Amino acid sequence: MDDPLNFTDKVVLVTGSSRGIGAEMIKAFGQRGANCVVNYIADPAGQNKTDAETVANELKDPLVIECDVTKPEQVEAMMKQIQDRHGGLDILVNNSGIIRDRTIKKMSMEEFESVVRVNLTGTFNVTQKAAAILRNGGRVVNLSSVSGEMGLFGQANYSSSKAAIIALTKVSAREFARQNITVNAIAPGFIDVGMSKGMPDEVTENFKKQIPLGRLGDVQEIVNAALFLASAMASYITGHVLNVNGGFYMG
Ligand code: NDP
Repeated sequence: MDDPLNFTDKVVLVTGSSRGIGAEMIKAFGQRGANCVVNYIADPAGQNKTDAETVANELKDPLVIECDVTKPEQVEAMMKQIQDRHGGLDILVNNSGIIRDRTIKKMSMEEFESVVRVNLTGTFNVTQKAAAILRNGGRVVNLSSVSGEMGLFGQANYSSSKAAIIALTKVSAREFARQNITVNAIAPGFIDVGMSKGMPDEVTENFKKQIPLGRLGDVQEIVNAALFLASAMASYITGHVLNVNGGFYMG
């Protein structure tokens, strides 16, 4: 029987794959035979480029592309590079995201808008530009969050962006269905890498008490959800939000 998690000949782009969840995702697709595109955003110290190259070292013949997802012309150039190398795109994971927590009373417009710009506008931008090269039968997986479902304290910007990603996922699912492209979202709870790692210990312990499974999620548990949604096993699932949160929120 064919292995449904074999992604040989599939072209996969994971935005923000220089570190955190995105890095583990692109490596997992690579281990399963995919042609991988690693994306990072430039920083003055060059750290992100170094991180992206470290990820790329574990992949066979990857494309590594510097691109800020909020910049339409950069995203268009990224899609052109993918098109030139591979002739199209099969799987897009919109994973890039940032966090800038502050209570509403203290949050500046810049803090609100910058998070919405990267998380929501960035996801729209990449989805729109990818549409030109996404092949029929393709897959889009968006990273939402439990924060977008519950609204967490201090996250007016982040929760709003992640809630809107759920709506964007549903609109995309409807519009892309004619090409047999499915669009789904993963809503992770608290995961042991990336942004959740920055939480103070007492906050982490307090959240753990409220998680029925009593622990943070392992990054591989988010990767597994992405592999499933991107696979042939999920061919009749579209417009869905998959909670991977240990039971913290049951929608
Ligand atoms: P990290 O902060 O570790 O990684 C975020 C990634 O996004 C980085 O690779 C970063 O690139 C990239 N990025 C940021 N801004 C841009 C931009 N403008 N253009 C392109 N790439 C950008 O986060 P996580 O791995 O924790 O999070 C990944 C996704 O999962 C996010 O969407 C997040 O909201 C979501 N999520 C995470 C949870 C968690 O507990 N970790 C929980 C719920 C959701 P670079 O390294 O080059 O700066």
